[in-house]
Amino acid sequence: MVNIALIGCTGSIGRQVCEVVRRNPHRFRFSALVCGKNEKALSALAEEFHPETALCAAQAEARLSSLFENADVAFIATGGFSGLAYTLAAARAGKKIALANKESLVCGGELVMREVEERKIDLVPVDSEHSALFQCLGFRRGAPYKKLVLTASGGPFLHFTEEEMKGVTASDALRHPTWNMGAKITIDSATLLNKGYEVLEAKWLYGAEFGQIEAVVHPESIVHSLVYFEDGAAVAQLGYPDMKLPIQLALTYPERLPCEKELDLISLGALHFERLPQEKFPCYGLALEAGKAGGTAPTLLNAAAETAVNAFLRGGITFPQIAETVRETLERVPHVRADSFETLREADMRARAVASGYIYGK
Ligand code: MG
Repeated sequence: MVNIALIGCTGSIGRQVCEVVRRNPHRFRFSALVCGKNEKALSALAEEFHPETALCAAQAEARLSSLFENADVAFIATGGFSGLAYTLAAARAGKKIALANKESLVCGGELVMREVEERKIDLVPVDSEHSALFQCLGFRRGAPYKKLVLTASGGPFLHFTEEEMKGVTASDALRHPTWNMGAKITIDSATLLNKGYEVLEAKWLYGAEFGQIEAVVHPESIVHSLVYFEDGAAVAQLGYPDMKLPIQLALTYPERLPCEKELDLISLGALHFERLPQEKFPCYGLALEAGKAGGTAPTLLNAAAETAVNAFLRGGITFPQIAETVRETLERVPHVRADSFETLREADMRARAVASGYIYGK
């Protein structure tokens, strides 16, 4: 029996983790369930799964050092910068980590990977692209390769002009062509910030140089990513766009259990690939620049983006102003070395204040 501490149990990924546990009650149970604020949904889950601990984030954050005591796996499925504290606590507790929280690596990659390497933590990616890379590498994050290619659906505005993008609304942006996800990540997919984040995730997970990571548009979202090897071979993982497989595989690998329906190649007919139009989606380049700058820069970028996306969802700014807010914040707040979680948390708070000032002060 595998004991799972699930952080972010009521969100889009968390609910699908519950589904995997529901379908495999003889293999998995929850030692802890942590939600953001949705206490009602949490108590329904606690009643169904009987974990030892069921908490809201505000309580859980005060008990980080004991939260993972009875767990075999820490499943970090909460969104945003707040996931980092849990990932670090799970690593320090020596637990296997199934990581669906991108920000843990985007913002805290240096700190997280230091703990993971020192303590030889089994860190398993849940993001579909990184799960695909993990599968292509034979479940060995340290396996040799030449190049990593991340696929991107391109989001709902791939072929929009810059002028057309000025007029899009939150509900336009929330209509993702292939994946069904939470609001923040759906907007990040529309700005391509999400793909920039995934480049940074790949860098930390697979020890890649920026020059070894590419992103390519693949509108069908069937090829989840590819690894190119020294001899010219390219190995890909294919499947329908459904998070169940990467979620389940993170818990069972190297074993595979029944999960998704089989791919029907004939009914798919054709798969398409095109260049990622970076110049139309400045958030992608901003993420890479922040990643290359390192230190607190990606944390500043993320805090500005979280603030700007919230404002956009409420109709407070236009779609292109998300990128403007991020750029302005990165210019106004100097980045420093990321030597501790405290440094990152201060950078996060500072950038949120500056981004809010930029959005609401003008
Ligand atoms: Mg992804």
